Amino acid sequence: MTRTVLAADFGGTHLRAAVVDENGRVLARDERPTPTEATAASVTAEIVSLLRSVAPGPGAAPSAVCIATAGLVDADAGRVILAPNIPGFRNLPLTEPVAAALGIPAFIENDASAAALGEFRFGAGRGLRHLLHATLGTGIGGGLVIDRRLYRGAKGLAGEIGHIVIDPSGPRCNCGSRGCLEALVSGVAFAQRARRLLAKGKSPRLAVIAAGREPNGRDLLVAAREGDTAAEAEIRNGGHVLGLGLGSLVNVLNPDAVTLSGGLLGMGEMLLGPMRDALSSLAYGPASGTKVLLSELGDDAGLLGAAAVAFERLEDAGLRS
Ligand SMILES: [Zn+2]
Repeated sequence: MTRTVLAADFGGTHLRAAVVDENGRVLARDERPTPTEATAASVTAEIVSLLRSVAPGPGAAPSAVCIATAGLVDADAGRVILAPNIPGFRNLPLTEPVAAALGIPAFIENDASAAALGEFRFGAGRGLRHLLHATLGTGIGGGLVIDRRLYRGAKGLAGEIGHIVIDPSGPRCNCGSRGCLEALVSGVAFAQRARRLLAKGKSPRLAVIAAGREPNGRDLLVAAREGDTAAEAEIRNGGHVLGLGLGSLVNVLNPDAVTLSGGLLGMGEMLLGPMRDALSSLAYGPASGTKVLLSELGDDAGLLGAAAVAFERLEDAGLRS
């Protein structure tokens, strides 16, 4: 029988849990809405309760559990430092109570780092050695697999690619800097671009689509697809900026491939075309041919990423013993 682990993905809207085997097959799953009113104790209890609901009975016990969560995570200490979208998730020791409740080793990981290892083990990055993964959603996250292992850096912050500065005079970012990649191209950034276009009266189609409410990134895409050239120029510029960021990282890391996941992929070639052009023109020498691959894990990226981290941690423990 193949080994299994419990995996959890703690996002801003949903808490998901699953039993996953070594081949990345999901054997059981469940999900609940993320608690909106929560304390550290109630969040922990909710996670344990959900994990218990998917855990198989005696005789088929999972070997470990890993929880992937948004925000800053000290994975080695098993602690969430800050998860801005999840109430109660601040300086929270998480793995100790989960391990005590379930009776198996428990780990946590930043969700974008977990997604990187998930793509490497089970998805678009299978068989590669070095991988740069970017999550393109409300914000921009990233993860690094170097020499077939997840790279966490000195303080567990490696892969925060959303906060590389592209334009020092650009818009203010959540982190306090100006012109970060995330402040220029992300769900939030495209909503801001749409609002600016509307305020300047430059996008007649967008005004009709938003119909009096605040426009968002999806409205910008709809306007662009309906032929609004100003809206299309914003998305294409976002793609170009993304390519500058990823191309710079490719020059530092020389990965086998860049893998991409997240809701912004729905913008299709309007975003990805200029991104690939900028990346390949910026990347140095043979790195200009670095492959860009789309995620194969879809909505399960967080869950399968958490499972991949659990398996890697178990293998590490095996090597050490
Ligand atoms: Zn930033």
